[in-house]
Amino acid sequence: AIAGTGFVGYGIYSNRNPPEQVDPDPNKKTLVVLGTGWGSVSLLKKLDTENYNVVVISPRNYFLFTPLLPSCTTGLIEHRSIMEPVRNFLRHKKAAVKFYEAEATKIDYERRVIYVNDESEIKGESHTTEVPFDMLVVGVGAENATFGIPGVREHSCFLKEVNDAQRIRQRIMDCCETATFKDQSPDEVKRLLHMVVVGGGPTGVEFAGELQDFFENDLKKWIPDIKDNFKVTLVEALPSVLPMFSKQLIDYTEKTFKEETIEVRTKTTVKNVTDKYIEAEFTDASGQKQLEKIPYGLLVWATGNALRPVVKDLMAQIPAQKDSRRGLAVNEYLVVKGTENVWAVGDCAVAGYAPTGQVAAQEGAFLARLFNQMGKTESIDLELKNLSAVQETAPNKEKRDEAFARIKDLQRRRRRANSMGPFEYSHQGSLAYIGSEKAVADISWLTGNLASGGTLTYFFWLSAYLSMCFSTRNRILVIMDWTKAKVFGRDVSR
Ligand code: NAD
Repeated sequence: AIAGTGFVGYGIYSNRNPPEQVDPDPNKKTLVVLGTGWGSVSLLKKLDTENYNVVVISPRNYFLFTPLLPSCTTGLIEHRSIMEPVRNFLRHKKAAVKFYEAEATKIDYERRVIYVNDESEIKGESHTTEVPFDMLVVGVGAENATFGIPGVREHSCFLKEVNDAQRIRQRIMDCCETATFKDQSPDEVKRLLHMVVVGGGPTGVEFAGELQDFFENDLKKWIPDIKDNFKVTLVEALPSVLPMFSKQLIDYTEKTFKEETIEVRTKTTVKNVTDKYIEAEFTDASGQKQLEKIPYGLLVWATGNALRPVVKDLMAQIPAQKDSRRGLAVNEYLVVKGTENVWAVGDCAVAGYAPTGQVAAQEGAFLARLFNQMGKTESIDLELKNLSAVQETAPNKEKRDEAFARIKDLQRRRRRANSMGPFEYSHQGSLAYIGSEKAVADISWLTGNLASGGTLTYFFWLSAYLSMCFSTRNRILVIMDWTKAKVFGRDVSR
């Protein structure tokens, strides 16, 4: 090891930078951050932790780079390449941060406590406890919307978390292996190899594209028997997929899907899900509503976000949240309306923007700046108090003038620290991968309003996502996975 640096060779750092803090400092406020997604992690990265007793609570002890999650469903990227342990970056903070791997089950706003539940596999039991807070940031995200449609939770796969991607990967291979098993009826083979994606938002579109790539590049070579029956269908209730993109890019996506032989069923709404088929409503050529049974082997449900129960419960405790439906209504400083000490970021907050990682990350960074300034203001206030005492008891004019000059300077700095403007979102554009090494991009900062699709855009998408990866470690792992898949093909083992 190189003395004093903690460097023990090839990027392995053994030191824990901040000294362990066993008990909270009574002179500091306790700031609790819920979640380790885009919003919370971006806040933690930029927060000066020495100003607060910082406690982070999340059922996941890692940050997940969600834009590349669809690539994990086919094994193009291994899931660990897009995960970054929170301990990795928390240990580089100036002051220690407490991390509890647990789920926040209830926030008691009146009592200023959070109930947390830790499901311990080792102990084989769950443990519930309370964590008090002075300041709270809610960044718990959202859960999958099912709109109460029967059978969705029981029979479909979602695409939000690492285990969802792993489940899909297993299920794809299960369908292929079962379809090629001895004595399967032709109808059963067709059903098993029908991959249905519900929801034509970016999640559904990117997954459909990745899955078709998997079939074209690898599956059909490894398992030629499935060649004639493997089919991907995308079902969307609205008249087009990707409604947030421009008309030109929607047309481009639909045209590309046609070339890739992905069937797009727009104006088709899923009403019921069973273990072997979905029931979808569509309008036929004569304007009549029809109900059709669509058999499937794999069903991926990507119809957007719904409120988490813990958020719903908090909203019910705050009268000012009565009329908010989609999440915690926040003001322009991201303070939850009806509270003074609770902030919300990301998909659980309603700040007037789409629920994307980009918005959440900017909100988190804004809160870090805000809290850093608040911390600065508090320490200036403390110094000002001490200085006025010095000024009063100063033995001579020279000392009094000195204290006075310092007070003036501090007051100026305090005014500056207090002058932070409200949160403003700066949209950097939207990107989506659509399969066969093509992507679509709506980017406003490049040339006014550039909308582009195609292979060049794909390389832009690649480099943009690589540069957005959390760490150099993640970036290297992703590049290695891509290279490995290009050279050897994807790994089709279950
Ligand atoms: P979404 O809300 O964007 O799209 C869901 C789609 O499902 C909608 O078009 C809706 O009409 C359709 N739908 C709902 N119920 C249906 C039913 N019963 N039958 C058929 N179709 C139905 O959801 P998403 O794709 O999960 O995205 C969620 C958020 O995350 C969005 O804000 C999105 O912009 C963002 N996101 C962005 C990217 C990216 O920029 N590349 C990737 C993933 C997610």
